[in-house]
Amino acid sequence: MAIKQTIKYDSERDKSFPQEIMSRPGCEKLYGCIQCGTCSATCPVSTYMDYTPRQLMALTRAGFKKEALGSLTIWLCASCYACTVECPKEIKITDIMYALKRQAIQEGIYPKRFPIPVLAREFYNMVRSKGRVTENFLAVMMFLKSNPIAAIKTWKLGLNLMRTGRFAYKLDSMKQPAKMATLLDKADTGWKGGAR
Ligand code: SF4
Ligand code: SF4
Repeated sequence: MAIKQTIKYDSERDKSFPQEIMSRPGCEKLYGCIQCGTCSATCPVSTYMDYTPRQLMALTRAGFKKEALGSLTIWLCASCYACTVECPKEIKITDIMYALKRQAIQEGIYPKRFPIPVLAREFYNMVRSKGRVTENFLAVMMFLKSNPIAAIKTWKLGLNLMRTGRFAYKLDSMKQPAKMATLLDKADTGWKGGAR
């Protein structure tokens, strides 16, 4: 994938954004980045990213929120931790990727039909409402919201799953799913208030 090279202006920066990200656990050392590029060189998927990990660290640190949260990079990150292990400044790049993903979903700034954020969002919604995940329902929701044509093309697989009894016909649920929603809301409030 071609790396984006565009001129950025100071007026486009959200100056509170770096602090917001650095308030998340594991992200505190972002300002220490020396732009050495070791993370980009180590990353096994950087060639497919729109911004390399080094570029993403620079964009985040400089407050280019829209670019950082809207990038494909955060969704292509395979969480292999290779960059985190090699970073000479001990920056937890993988944790920063997670913080950016989480914020992108909270603010609705993510590539809308890209399957990975759609899957993450549907997964969260299902866990929040039912306390459990029913895999085939999750897959169907992901396909319908990201690529409905692909959903139709997988009809044979669906049929085979039904024939072999591997297809759940109703959503699995814990006994008191509301408790899960309360738990998740509490965890969110804890982070927003900087309590963790
Ligand atoms: S390896 Fe660490 S210091 Fe070097 S560019 Fe990446 S985040 Fe910055
Ligand atoms: S954790 Fe993500 S960004 Fe870091 S090397 Fe692995 S895939 Fe690349």
